Amino acid sequence: MSTTKISDLASGLEESATLALNTKAKEIAASGAKVYNFTAGEPNTDTPAYIREYVATKLDQNHYTPVVGIPELRQAIAAHCRQFYAADWIEESNIMVVAGGKPGLYLGLMTVLNRGDEVILPSPGWVSYKYLVEAAGGKMIEVPLSENFDLDVAAIKEKITDKTKMIIINSPNNPTGSVYSQAALSKLADLINTTDITVLADDMYSKLVFDDTYKPITEFGFKNLIISNGFSKSQALTGWRIGYIVADSEIIIAATKLQSHLLGNTSNLSQYAALGGLAQDDKPPMLKELKQNRELVVDRLQKIPKIKFTPPGGAFYAFIDIRGITSDSMGWCEKLLREKGVALVPGEAFSVPGYVRLSFTTDTQTLEEGLQKIEEFIKESPA
Ligand code: PLP
Repeated sequence: MSTTKISDLASGLEESATLALNTKAKEIAASGAKVYNFTAGEPNTDTPAYIREYVATKLDQNHYTPVVGIPELRQAIAAHCRQFYAADWIEESNIMVVAGGKPGLYLGLMTVLNRGDEVILPSPGWVSYKYLVEAAGGKMIEVPLSENFDLDVAAIKEKITDKTKMIIINSPNNPTGSVYSQAALSKLADLINTTDITVLADDMYSKLVFDDTYKPITEFGFKNLIISNGFSKSQALTGWRIGYIVADSEIIIAATKLQSHLLGNTSNLSQYAALGGLAQDDKPPMLKELKQNRELVVDRLQKIPKIKFTPPGGAFYAFIDIRGITSDSMGWCEKLLREKGVALVPGEAFSVPGYVRLSFTTDTQTLEEGLQKIEEFIKESPA
């Protein structure tokens, strides 16, 4: 028998509560019962045909690519970002192509952090940050968001120490669906710009916003900014593993060195998928349906007693406060799945028991029926 000792980092990882519930939901569905699965972290549409057709013309591209990404794609991303971020400083040299949002974030963290450096995370935040920060040698410092899931800049200020190296800003946010207010982001910029702290903006949902007054992260004048973005959610390219980071060219050069040893390059064909997507990247294909689903969710949830929620400003999540019913959201979700066939993600997955996350990327009819089941379940449950 092997005597290999698993590292503290790997053995400290917990099974994702999202995956656990998802597996149960699939088991129930396999038994023939109807399941309303609202745990998904991805669009319910396939990759658009025009992207797949474009990639099909590139099947002869099967060698290593430059570590930093193929030049045509870097140029296309830079042009796209100059427009989206209204930032004329963004050139090809400011772009590195990476294998999805996760590697982009990891490389961003690895490029900046030294062992023991602190990273501030407004909380609740997406599950993987903690592990990505730890894997990069850092220590995560969680700072609660305000009651309506906006940044609490005063609370952030209190947590800044001489070890604080970065702050993660994810707006629109997973799991809350909130878009941080412009006032809070401006206030944060005023605070952060008096320090050398770097903002790591996880902009994975930046194309999925429901309000026309949205301003991209570049508008707030952060002195030190690394943006991680990609095509997984906006272009339904989750399985292709393709994203990019935008940063000062010196950061791109350092991150490229890391990538050369870690991942080599992003899959050649996936880079072409992104190029094909950018050729028509006007509005994400599923945004119209998402907006309709959001209206439906807001309308239905507002009428359900005993729960509270803040209408999401972006992404495809509603984060529901069920503390009026229970603080054991894991047990509540298991019961909801067993009794009504509805799968939600318990707040425990994001370190906030007493909440549940509902992902509304399903078709409208499934969403409508599932919301009805949730309402029945809540009305039947003891207060
Ligand atoms: N950032 C956030 C906030 C996410 O929710 C996700 C995926 O769920 C990612 C990053 C990772 O995206 P990718 O699938 O491109 O690695």
